[in-house]
Amino acid sequence: MEDMTCGRPTKAGTPCWNRRISNRTAGCQNHATELERATEAAYWEGYRDGMRAGEEHGRQAARWEAERELREAEARETASRNHRERTPDGRQIVTVERGYAYAMPPGISVAVGDQVSIPAPYWHGSSAPPQRVTVTALGSSYTGSLVTAYPG
Ligand SMILES: [Zn+2]
Repeated sequence: MEDMTCGRPTKAGTPCWNRRISNRTAGCQNHATELERATEAAYWEGYRDGMRAGEEHGRQAARWEAERELREAEARETASRNHRERTPDGRQIVTVERGYAYAMPPGISVAVGDQVSIPAPYWHGSSAPPQRVTVTALGSSYTGSLVTAYPG
């Protein structure tokens, strides 16, 4: 096995027993020459460049994939944790086409596929007629306050 000790003379006159910086240098951290340090630095520079060129793309892709999966898992977990089919006062919650959630009036329940009327968006003006949309799911993971939808 290669001798990895520095071996350069110390102040005490004995050979230095420190480990060489690497197998590219003859000296240890204390005794390496400028040339050895430059050689070592150039090696790592090249190594990093090689890593960047050769592997960065793959590593970045793997990182994005892992982050995306994590975000999706978190979103699923949050959605299932927040999913509720009734408001605190017992009204049915429905999700309609376009994904928005509404609460039905007290005592009224609808099924998936039923039509409900929802208020027109405010930018249609306060006199705009309600819009008819289809219930696409019962319940919602939306946690904000819900506008009321009416059957039919
Ligand atoms: Zn040394």
